[in-house]
Amino acid sequence: MPYCINPRCPNPLDPENVNNSTCRNCGSEILLQGRYTVVEKLGKGGFGNTFEVDDRGTRTRTHFCFSTHR
Ligand SMILES: [Zn+2]
Repeated sequence: MPYCINPRCPNPLDPENVNNSTCRNCGSEILLQGRYTVVEKLGKGGFGNTFEVDDRGTRTRTHFCFSTHR
């Protein structure tokens, strides 16, 4: 199930997002940088969060700094 990385998302694990490239609840990207789908949140740091992601079929871990600025 894709995970919405927006810390303010009202429903980051919405199963309806599975076929979407953007979150239906907050409009954030589900398909990050055109390749990653976040599958699990692993930890929280001072400048962002660490996530387990699916990189076009390969599970890996990466760090995303989610910006709330537009
Ligand atoms: Zn969302």
